[in-house]
Amino acid sequence: VDDIRLEDVMKPKIESPEDAIVRITTTSICGSDLHIRHGNLGLEPGTIIGHEFTGIVEEVGSAVTMVKPGQRVLGAAGAACGNCSACKSGFGLDCEQPLIYGCGPIFGNLQGAQAEYVRAPRANSSLFLIPEGLSEEQVLFVGDILATGYMGVRGITPGGRGVQPGSTVAIFGAGPVGLCAVAAARLFGPARIISIDMVESRLQMAKNLGADHIIDASQENPVEGIMNLTKGQGANFVIEAVGSPKTFGDSLFSLAREGSLSIIGVFQQSVKLPIHTLMKRNIEIKVGLTKMTYTQELFALIQAGKLDLTPLITHRFPLSDVLDAYDMFEKKADGAIKVILNP
Ligand code: NAD
Ligand code: ZN
Ligand code: ZN
Repeated sequence: VDDIRLEDVMKPKIESPEDAIVRITTTSICGSDLHIRHGNLGLEPGTIIGHEFTGIVEEVGSAVTMVKPGQRVLGAAGAACGNCSACKSGFGLDCEQPLIYGCGPIFGNLQGAQAEYVRAPRANSSLFLIPEGLSEEQVLFVGDILATGYMGVRGITPGGRGVQPGSTVAIFGAGPVGLCAVAAARLFGPARIISIDMVESRLQMAKNLGADHIIDASQENPVEGIMNLTKGQGANFVIEAVGSPKTFGDSLFSLAREGSLSIIGVFQQSVKLPIHTLMKRNIEIKVGLTKMTYTQELFALIQAGKLDLTPLITHRFPLSDVLDAYDMFEKKADGAIKVILNP
């Protein structure tokens, strides 16, 4: 496909004993959906997009024990097999056979969640009961962007070196993913958080979510800005949440000695690593895909009132207006950050 349309399709059916059918209550548009819209993942015509959702379980296959019809669930963006070596060590979508909703043939050709119903495969590990007292909108991002931002802040791998108390954290990108990282970084007691973007309204949102300083990269060289704020030392922990060669380079050169760079932006191309100038600085670079390792931890933080990403929701549309919703999201019109669709 190289563009989207809205149409009536058949309701999905259980295809394997591990499947569940979920009636969608909220779903959203992710930045990754824009790449898909423009044909970058080679989806077949007729594929439904969308991989962030909450819903009510409607029907389960005979092997599904973790959720029951009638229960409110959060869907993970994808589902790992649970059996390969990556799964057994907690590496989630590094799985040998990863499935991601609405992301085409490399991710199992699943139908996505921007629909009234979705078939959730591997339902025992891909659906999570929404804790009582939490709304759908409060937990929706735990399935993708918040899981990603939090993973970045925790240092990508289970047991990785994450944001340390007293440190300086710089976060490139104040899109939905970067903003989740700002809010999550705040939980680990850094001395300061610097958010870098080029859209004024997003930088303001970063401030509201806990950034101490903002840098508008369309007005100022962000590496110089970070060096000025840190008396020439650089940031101890840098998160790349854009996925461009430019921000990759800026991220590297913003690092302090012994610094860590955590890459969560998705890159469409290779980038240059000027290793000869970085060698003496003892830096670490980690990159990873979303994992659901932290789901229960994130639910607990949201329940305790320590993490609230609902301010990212700038617009809500009925599913019938999905084409307008995509246009608004893509143009970042009217300060759009996160756009929710309600079937
Ligand atoms: P987005 O496009 O809304 O956000 C990117 C932000 O970067 C924008 O606000 C843009 O203004 C800013 N930006 C662009 N160029 C810049 C520059 N030179 N300097 C500073 N800021 C710049 O996207 P998003 O939804 O926030 O997602 C961010 C990235 O995370 C995407 O690449 C997305 O595919 C990726 N992602 C990764 C995972 C994962 O598993 N690692 C999961 C979800 C999303
Ligand atoms: Zn996504
Ligand atoms: Zn696996």
